[in-house]
Amino acid sequence: MAETKKSGIKKIAATRTMRKLMADHFYELDRAAKEGAPKIAWCTSVGPAELLRAMGFLVYFPENHGAMLGATRMATETIPAANAIGYSPEICSYLTSDIGAYLQGRTPLSEAYEGIESIPKPDVLVYNTNQCRDVQDWLAWYGEHWSRPVVGVECYAGVGEVTDVHVAGIAGQLEAMVPQLEEVGGEKFDIDRLRETVRLSRECSDLWKEVLETATAKPAPLTFFDSTIHMAPAVVMRGTQSAIDYYRELLPELKTRIADGTAAVEGEQHRLYWEGMPIWGRLRDLATQFLELRTTVAASTYANSWIFTALEADDPFRSMARAYTELFIVRSDPYKEKYIEEMVEKFSLDGVVFHDAKTCPSNTNCRYGMPQRLQQRLGLPTITIPGDLNDLRCYSDEQARTQIEAFVEQLTK
Ligand code: SF4
Repeated sequence: MAETKKSGIKKIAATRTMRKLMADHFYELDRAAKEGAPKIAWCTSVGPAELLRAMGFLVYFPENHGAMLGATRMATETIPAANAIGYSPEICSYLTSDIGAYLQGRTPLSEAYEGIESIPKPDVLVYNTNQCRDVQDWLAWYGEHWSRPVVGVECYAGVGEVTDVHVAGIAGQLEAMVPQLEEVGGEKFDIDRLRETVRLSRECSDLWKEVLETATAKPAPLTFFDSTIHMAPAVVMRGTQSAIDYYRELLPELKTRIADGTAAVEGEQHRLYWEGMPIWGRLRDLATQFLELRTTVAASTYANSWIFTALEADDPFRSMARAYTELFIVRSDPYKEKYIEEMVEKFSLDGVVFHDAKTCPSNTNCRYGMPQRLQQRLGLPTITIPGDLNDLRCYSDEQARTQIEAFVEQLTK
């Protein structure tokens, strides 16, 4: 048996600031929805948030709400309501849990923030299919329900090298959105404002990258499970000064941990990569199990997906287009394998955990032989855990626990 240790998850002090930031974010949206100003744009996670902010919109991310539904496990109760109106249990459980929650008149926001009764009604809904088609269908449902315009970018899939042709195609679609956004928002497009928003977004991204890379230290000062929490400002506030300020607070805390030799996982013995979506309703259980097994999940594709090194203030549309297309999820398998290989090297990892998320084929990379290919090439063990991001009916606690235990035991030999 791998050696285990009973120990608590170490709290990161900056979490308090983050909670306040998130509360401010949702209260600002709630106020705007009630007062009718500023205008609200819903945006998919790597949709054109920079453009929307630069045009005066407050930006709300339905996927962030989906993650909250998962983390609070409310999703389990809300998914059937969406299934009942024809949205299959096989499709994205962010979509089904979110639409189901709306149909049931529920939101975790009401439980977290007193006075907020519902999600903020949008003035426009903006998607990028760089992740999947589900986001387009998801926003289309609300657009139709509230008679609000839905605009978006149709992205490429399975991209190897991102070329100027790809960039031109996406940049053109982004620029084409401007007149409609001007009409909805009532503000004239200002290129300097966009440049400034892109600059802020890039700075946030660079800081977030630095935060994640602190886990290259041995022992690592933070884990993948910490990053799923501390990524929130990078996800919902990129393009704002607040997100930058937050990471300027978090980063020194992590650097102090490194200097002091403070490990996120006491007695760290093994280091792993997490590939695929988080299992939101079981984050704490999994974090605790890995902690007991003295194993740090030190890096992940998911948390890295909010690093946008291509953003350049001088060339906002083209650099946004490149950043949104260079995303891991958009890329070909050979690119993805190379990427994971580099991460394994950079973070000194001993193995890779693949999460086979039942309702998210787009962000699941274990179904076409990738674990086996990586295992062969890198000589590293891999494990595939069947589960889901939000639908816990697809996840067995017992099976996952046993699988992980056996996997870490194998690393120990
Ligand atoms: S990438 Fe997966 S989790 Fe995200 S919206 Fe698409 S199907 Fe849902």
